[in-house]
This record gives sequence, structure tokens and C-alpha cells, in this order.
Amino acid sequence: MSETHNVVIIGSGCAGHTAALYTARANLKPLVVEGHEPGGQLSMTTLVENFPGFPEGIMGPQLVENMRKQAERFGAEYSMAHLTSADLSQRPFLLHLGKHQVHAQTLIIASGASARWLGLPNEHKLIGHGVSSCATCDGFFFSGKEIVVIGGGDSAMEEALFLTRFASKVTLIHRRESFRASKIMLERAQQHEKIQFLTDTVVEDVYDPSLHEVTGLKLRNLKTGKVWDFPTSAMFLGIGHEPNAKMFAGQLDTDSDGYLKTHNYVMTRVHGVFACGDVQDRRYRQAITAAGSGCMAAIEVERFLEEHGA
Ligand code: NAP
Repeated sequence: MSETHNVVIIGSGCAGHTAALYTARANLKPLVVEGHEPGGQLSMTTLVENFPGFPEGIMGPQLVENMRKQAERFGAEYSMAHLTSADLSQRPFLLHLGKHQVHAQTLIIASGASARWLGLPNEHKLIGHGVSSCATCDGFFFSGKEIVVIGGGDSAMEEALFLTRFASKVTLIHRRESFRASKIMLERAQQHEKIQFLTDTVVEDVYDPSLHEVTGLKLRNLKTGKVWDFPTSAMFLGIGHEPNAKMFAGQLDTDSDGYLKTHNYVMTRVHGVFACGDVQDRRYRQAITAAGSGCMAAIEVERFLEEHGA
């Protein structure tokens, strides 16, 4: 039989590291399975100015690295593996990490959500340099600039409206003429004097990676076929997120978009399995709220193990 851990934590973003810190300090020797994107979404951002405790701000990758070091200091163990499948019907739970398997008395799922990207040739080279999926995190850097938001749902409307606080002009680009966004959000955006709409339009690429900043987009109108360059200082994506919860399909409850459903903040329908951070939170999606729910999951793990005499 493979090794059995008190607690295995899936994911190494803010929620996972915080859960690791708390369970490590409770002497539970957590195993953290880092996943495909070690550090989570913070590892893809630049300056983080809204995480309390850093008056000058802190770079996203540095923040998650600090969290990891803090958890390791108390005995958290990190594994550069990712969860391929889990059997939550047996106890301890059986977790497959590629070719290896481990058992867990309790499980904390902190696997996050991944922002959807457009898949443009230059897109990833400019993430953190004007390409962003988080208006709350990065909007401030574009004060007085003209920027673009992509998408036609509530996230895109919310981002566009939020960004009007900083930008001199926001252009919302959507691939169709009709919108998925709720009527009220759409109307608010349509009526805002700083927001203009470009519909039936897709982005073909973003420039200029050689300058390490966004200078413009190559656009194409799907109805007329017209292709043109559109100068802008930033491109914010509001095309949705994918919760990383597919490996629990059929075993845990999800909402219609695949986010894990929890009750009492972090409890799933399987006793001993807790979920925290963006994999169960579609509403706030902030580093600080993810860290907070990671702490809650860790405290619930302690209580669960105590109650079950483990
Ligand atoms: P969404 O409703 O799925 O909308 C995604 C948008 O992005 C759609 O307009 C879609 O276009 C577009 N899109 C997706 N992939 C694209 C691609 N490759 N290229 C170009 N455009 C692409 O996602 P969401 O806006 O994140 O909202 C998710 C859920 O959260 C919704 O239920 C929403 O109501 C909720 N939400 C609520 C609030 C609020 O109430 N304050 C705020 C944010 C989100 P198509 O329409 O053409 O498919």
C-alpha cells in the first residue's frame, strides 16, 4: 500500500499555500501537489498592490514564493506532480499522481481556475506587460491610457466598467453582435461615456513583444473581412475562467460551469474533502479571499481529523 498522508492539498496558489501553512503549523505534515501551474494565477501577474501587508506592493511570483517558503518552514512537503484522478469512494482517499499513487485521510482541493486566453501568437509573451485577465489587479497601471476589453459576458462588462476609473477610453471588443451579459450590466456599459463597442470583431494578434509592452492589436471584422491595426496600451480578457475540477467529475457536485459546490464555506458533499480558492469561488476570485478560504479548509481538516481520531 502506498504512503498515507494526513492531508493532501491539490494546488499551489494562494489557497493551497495558505492551507499548507496552517496544516503544517498544526503538525499534520501536509503534502502539496503543485499542479500544472505552480503558484497559480499570481505567478502570471506582475505587481500586486491589493494584498495587505505590502505597502509598496509585491511581485506576484515573489508573493507566492514567500508563501511557499513560509509553509515549508513548518514542514509542508511539495511534490512537482499533478493529480490525474482520484477515488473519493474509498478511505483513505486514493489519489493518482501520474504513475504514482498516494492515500489521504483528508483532501483539500485548491486547484484554482485558469483564465481563458485567446491563443494569439504573441499573447503569452505580453502577459504582465499589458495583456491581463484581471482588471482588479492590473487596471491601475493604465491610468489615463486607452485600453481594450475582450468578451461579451458579465465579466467583460464588469471589467470594462471597472477600468473606466483609470482609463481615458475603454473599447469593448466582442466577436458577435448580441451579448451574453445580463441586460443591466450591458446597459450600464453601453451608457458609459468612456466605453465604446466594437462588435463582430476578433483579435488576430497583439503587438509588440519586442518592446515588452502592448502597443496595439490586429483586428478583423467577421462580417466585412476588413483587417486593421488598432492602437491600444492594454488588452484585458473577460472571456471567462475554467475551474480546474474536471478530475472530480461525478464524485463532487459542481455548478453548471464546473465550479465545485461547497456548503459552510469549504465543505464538499464528501466528508473529509474540502475545497477552497477559485475552484469553488466564481464571485470574488482575489488572492486574499483565496488565502482566507485556504485557512478555513485547513482548520476544517484539523477538526475533521480530531473528530475521527486520526
Ligand atoms: P461567459 O458568460 O461565458 O462569457 C464569456 C464571453 O467571452 C462570451 O461573450 C463569449 O463570446 C466570449 N468568448 C469566449 N471565448 C472567446 C474567444 N475565444 N474569443 C472571443 N470571445 C470569446 O463568462 P463570464 O462573463 O466570465 O461569466 C461567467 C458567469 O459568471 C456568468 O454566469 C455571469 O453571469 C457570471 N458573472 C456575473 C457577474 C456579476 O453579476 N457581477 C460578473 C461576472 C460574471 P460568445 O458570447 O460569442 O460565446
